[in-house]
Amino acid sequence: STLKLTDPSLLETRAYVNGEWVEAGKTFAVHNPATGEQIAEVADLGIADAAGAIDAAYAAKPAWAVLTGKERGALLRRWYDLMIGNADDLARILTAEMGKPWPEARGEILYGASFIEWFAEEAKRVYGDVIPGHQRDKRIVVLKQPVGVVGSITPWNFPNAMIARKVAPALAVGCTFVARPAELTPLSALAMAVLAERAGIPAGVFNVIPSSDASAIGKELCANEKVAKITFTGSTRVGRILMKQCSDTIKKMSLELGGNAPFIVFDDADIDAAVEGAMIAKYRNNGQTCVCANRIYVQTGIYDIFAEKLASRTRALSVGDGFEEGVTIGPLINEAAVKKVEAHIADAVGKGAEVVEGGTRSNLGGTFFRPTVLTGVTQTMRVAHEETFGPVAPLIRFEHEAEAISMANDSEFGLAGYFYSRDHARVWRVAEALETGMVGINTGLISTEVAPFGGIKQSGLGREGSKFGSDDFLEIKYLCMGEI
Ligand code: ADP
Repeated sequence: STLKLTDPSLLETRAYVNGEWVEAGKTFAVHNPATGEQIAEVADLGIADAAGAIDAAYAAKPAWAVLTGKERGALLRRWYDLMIGNADDLARILTAEMGKPWPEARGEILYGASFIEWFAEEAKRVYGDVIPGHQRDKRIVVLKQPVGVVGSITPWNFPNAMIARKVAPALAVGCTFVARPAELTPLSALAMAVLAERAGIPAGVFNVIPSSDASAIGKELCANEKVAKITFTGSTRVGRILMKQCSDTIKKMSLELGGNAPFIVFDDADIDAAVEGAMIAKYRNNGQTCVCANRIYVQTGIYDIFAEKLASRTRALSVGDGFEEGVTIGPLINEAAVKKVEAHIADAVGKGAEVVEGGTRSNLGGTFFRPTVLTGVTQTMRVAHEETFGPVAPLIRFEHEAEAISMANDSEFGLAGYFYSRDHARVWRVAEALETGMVGINTGLISTEVAPFGGIKQSGLGREGSKFGSDDFLEIKYLCMGEI
């Protein structure tokens, strides 16, 4: 294997259940998308194993929930310190299984760790309320209590951070956790468990159950009465399935689903800043994030100059193996991802769009694809309505603000939106009008642990990060005290 780690014990292939490292009767292979090389064979757990992990989390919950916030926070802080201390290795594992360039993978580790740091601090701040009584002899007190066992299902595009964003608030407020990582990227999750164990997080509090059979494990997590809540990041399609499956037991849910982010550039924008923002919002993680700019609306007066500058910056991106120095665009995750990108480009070109940069597979072969800029794109093309999840920047021309807003909102998704303008009144108007949970204004990068991440419409339910992020893992209980 080309995977050289300072601490090879971080490359764990067994499941982590109830504080034990366990094998399964079978395994599944994990491959490096840049080389096709097999990196590891990982324990492939089944439904009974998942039920066992849920039992362990259920049994661990009372002792974990009874700790003070400060005590839980101290353990999370230790976990955070270990993630930072091992960031280089964690990033190597991440690049090997997912493909993103190593510096970007390292950035993800720091981003994921920041949620553990943040919620280690927030653990002490789960405040209730005291409400003046409605009768003279009554006092009303509101408590916030952990929901219980949390089941988590996460995607491959951020193998570390998607789990960190969920497990950190859950553990901070006293929940216990069963994580089913994406089958393409289980190694980052298992490495997190290695460090959680070293940090002294008690047995059963954080469990990782790799499995090749997502739907079987998903069914168990949704149906099991000991699971109080499901937290999921992934497609809207699978989000709908999980929501249906959770209806029998009325589970609480957090869903971070698909996006179709509009990125609007008004003619009063700082064009160079807008190009820079578009580069980040479009090409970060090779276009494989749910908040990636999917459709770029540019006002007619600056359309040509914006297109030219974006194409020129796009040409300078460096496609290659994420372990190579200077590479900014790794491989796409798999062949299906490349096919989708090709289909979106073909559809747009068939309806009159023009490829001004890229447009084809890279001569590196495999799943490497050339970052692509399309001009002459219209709202009738697939790129305007479906999440491309790849390095394609479709530029759509518009005349007026109202037209841009109407096209931007013409979507069942509502995760992120971006726009560039220097007119303060327009900034307020457009920010309020966009039907998205998050708006980047004169910036292409909005993700941070201190702000609430999440979507509206069919992009999901709930928020991750910030002071609001704890609420998703808490129940409100009200005490009505009489005879006073
Ligand atoms: P993506 O396109 O990002 O892979 P998916 O929604 O397909 O989005 O996958 C997100 C996660 O959900 C992955 O870990 C995947 O294995 C898992 N998954 C896929 N189908 C199901 C299902 N029917 N039930 C539970 N989990 C599923």
